[in-house]
Amino acid sequence: MLYYSTNHKAAEISFPQALLQGLAEDRGLYLPRSIPVLSPDELRSLKGLDYPELAFTILYKFLAEDIPTEELRSLVKDAYNFSVPLEPVTARQFVLRLDQGPTASFKDFAARMMARLMQYYLQREHRKLLILTATSGDTGSAIANAFYGLDSIDILVLFPLSEVTARQRKQMTTLGKNIRIVGIDGKFDDCQALVKQAFSDPALAELNLSSANSINIGRLLPQSVYYFWAYSQLAEYPEPAVFSVPCGNFGDLMGGLIAKNMGLPVHRFVVATNANDEFPLYLKTGEYKVIAPSRNCISSAMNVGHPSNVARLIALYGGEMDESGRILIQPDLQAIRKDLFGVSVSDSETEETIISAWKDHKLLLEPHGAVGWKGLSSYLQEHPQDRDKLCVSLETAHPAKFPEKIIDLLNFDPELPPSLHDLESKEEYVSKMENSYNAFSKLLKENY
Ligand SMILES: *Cc1c(COP(=O)(O)O)cnc(C)c1O
Repeated sequence: MLYYSTNHKAAEISFPQALLQGLAEDRGLYLPRSIPVLSPDELRSLKGLDYPELAFTILYKFLAEDIPTEELRSLVKDAYNFSVPLEPVTARQFVLRLDQGPTASFKDFAARMMARLMQYYLQREHRKLLILTATSGDTGSAIANAFYGLDSIDILVLFPLSEVTARQRKQMTTLGKNIRIVGIDGKFDDCQALVKQAFSDPALAELNLSSANSINIGRLLPQSVYYFWAYSQLAEYPEPAVFSVPCGNFGDLMGGLIAKNMGLPVHRFVVATNANDEFPLYLKTGEYKVIAPSRNCISSAMNVGHPSNVARLIALYGGEMDESGRILIQPDLQAIRKDLFGVSVSDSETEETIISAWKDHKLLLEPHGAVGWKGLSSYLQEHPQDRDKLCVSLETAHPAKFPEKIIDLLNFDPELPPSLHDLESKEEYVSKMENSYNAFSKLLKENY
């Protein structure tokens, strides 16, 4: 199976190549040339599998030629050692909680699988990588936890000392081993600039630097699995379901679209954004306009004014979009509108939703999941004929990651999930560095 770049200038390559490379040389994103389809019998037989078995079944459809069966089975089992609960809200409406992983965010699903696949291919080729990441909080901890203890890969995370909460910091700094966490006297943008400069510094060419950013195809495929999981737990094939997805960089939604293309019966995806409404507006007007700078909202992981995965979405519907957001070939907009319903949710609606979900249903949501839940109710309001359909809304982070917001709106401090329980008492391994490229390159040369 080969992977092509959405910019169509780079050569088609295999999965391991695309995984270790990340971005294509023509700056496009990789997508599989063809998407494997599950037969109705295969879809029915997903019922009864546990999460790792189901993930294996789905991923094997893509990776059969690229990794031995038993190897994939054991990587998947190791990656998904936490629960993936579906919380009933009404008889036909459910919340899929993707917040039970080690960093209590849905990014664990992608990062843990990508880390294990990278480790497998690097070991096979006797190679080592040093991954540099700049973080404003959540990505750094998901990456650090996902790669923790893997021996072919070192991780170095730069973060702005004064812009990260204590809880976010401790999710990265209490690991040690192959994970190095460095705080900078500066802003997130400074961290990102240092990382970028290192990537283009010929003096560091020997270090085998790489990134683990969110556009890697190795992060995308695992995100189609939980749509099959929710369906297998709740639906009778072939009844169609509605999924509501809180969207930032659109990786989560792309996972769902891949699942639909694999044969999952999806009636509609609700594409729920915060005030960064470039995509809902595109659905309405047919014109795509980047929002720059992006708007700051309380669902901060979704503050994206030009989601990079939109280029993949456009490609899936036969179009072409370059990295600046220009549409070069029109996709089948009618088909997109049939599959996707766009809705933008304001901060005040997000807060009202957190309050009403708790009051009406004892459903505890944090800002990202609340955008998804509100998006679903807007959809059902406009489509009363769909009210009896099976509906699944995705919750992408644990409410305990946002204690100030929950205390402010609901007057209680949400209980920590087990993964965050003993963070407070753990030792921190963290170094501080002045905000200068000299200091950074010295640190890299001395330690790797
Ligand atoms: C990253 C993130 C999102 C957005 O996911 P995308 O795949 O970027 O659309 C939503 N919620 C949370 C909590 C996140 O961390």
